Amino acid sequence: MRVIFLGPPGSGKGTQSKLLCERNNLTYLGTGDMLREARDNHTPLGERAKPFMAAGKLVPDELVDELVAERLNRPDQPCGFVIDGYPRTLAQAHALDRLLESKKLGLTAVIVMVVPDEEIIRRLRGRQRDDDKEETVRARLAEFHRQTAFIAAHYRAKGIRHEVSGIGQIEDVYNSIMRILQPASGCQSC
Ligand code: AMP
Repeated sequence: MRVIFLGPPGSGKGTQSKLLCERNNLTYLGTGDMLREARDNHTPLGERAKPFMAAGKLVPDELVDELVAERLNRPDQPCGFVIDGYPRTLAQAHALDRLLESKKLGLTAVIVMVVPDEEIIRRLRGRQRDDDKEETVRARLAEFHRQTAFIAAHYRAKGIRHEVSGIGQIEDVYNSIMRILQPASGCQSC
């Protein structure tokens, strides 16, 4: 099973992606986590990404594309995976298409987590991360909505995009996701 999660920060996509990985033996590929690790380890890529992350802006496409490609090009490349937080631009979606095509890997589904903005802002007020100040959150949401329309249309045209409400208990949201993925994954081996 190979799944992409799209959704604004605070929509629960991180929680659901990780749960899906744990329960189905899939590899978690979260670009937010990868970027924070690169930043904290002061790698050259992390240093370049740092100011964009601090400002709540998207990191340039080529940096994120490189991180994802590096992970999928490793000798131990995962067969089944969940991608969380990528692609966030249409250019990233095209880069991922090319990467997956070169590896003959198809996507099972793209899950879009839907949560109203005011609920997102309410949820993130309780978080401790230093990049979650309200003005940063609003900047990230605005950027998210600007880009998402194009990405959503891209995957809708491929017939693999599904919307799931991110409101409700974690288990209920998880069950809604599984109702989409079980039929979609069919006889895939991973
Ligand atoms: P996240 O934890 O997914 O909210 O990501 C934290 C920060 O990392 C974002 O605010 C962006 O600055 C950066 N980031 C994560 N994923 C991407 C991506 N696919 N494209 C550009 N920037 C990203």
